[in-house]
Amino acid sequence: MLTPWITFDLDGTLVKNPYWRLTLFPWIQKESARRRLDWQDFWQPIADEGQHRWDQGLWVDAYDWSDIIRRVWKEEPPEPSMVPWHQVASLTLPGVLWLLSVLKTYPIRLGIITNGLERNQMPFIKSLGWDQIFDTVVTTNKVTRCKPDPRVFSLFDGPILCHVGDRVHHDVLVACRAQVTSILYQPKWYSEDRVDPLSPAWPMPNHVITHYWGLPKLVTHLLVAGPPASHPNP
Ligand SMILES: [Mg+2]
Repeated sequence: MLTPWITFDLDGTLVKNPYWRLTLFPWIQKESARRRLDWQDFWQPIADEGQHRWDQGLWVDAYDWSDIIRRVWKEEPPEPSMVPWHQVASLTLPGVLWLLSVLKTYPIRLGIITNGLERNQMPFIKSLGWDQIFDTVVTTNKVTRCKPDPRVFSLFDGPILCHVGDRVHHDVLVACRAQVTSILYQPKWYSEDRVDPLSPAWPMPNHVITHYWGLPKLVTHLLVAGPPASHPNP
């Protein structure tokens, strides 16, 4: 049997949006200051255009921030490049570096599924050395799909043990649609956020974790139990 996969979302799950923090936001601050604008007034039309594209079903284009900025402001934002390890390692979520070192000893393969573009995500993934840790990195333009389209799993051969992510309507929903066990990572999870499990409008995660320290144990359990006979969100 093929070695099973665990797939992870990137931003907000493994690392705090390095493209935004290290490339885009510093440029937005500089550019808005040059125009004597508040940065939020400079950013809002960019965000609105992204949302507009998403609402039109142009999911991949909705994450092409360079193209959006060219369209909205007729400007060319910088392309990210590799940075020193410590600069991006400091943006990893608590326990992530430990978690990956533990999971590398498990009989599984590790994957990333990010809605970001290849050119915006890979420089930071490579800066972390994660191109050596993860067996496959799926970026939006690599599959011309993004979460919650379940076809983002198309590049993974073999069973997907679980998908870990921080967004209900991207990560839990994509797992639900692909009949994959979902693990919602929410450091500030409040039980009152949970809604009626019978409501089709809110896909329920199979598991919710607020930190990563217990995830290896959960993965061990999933490996022993195998894939679920039926998904709770048919
Ligand atoms: Mg995320």
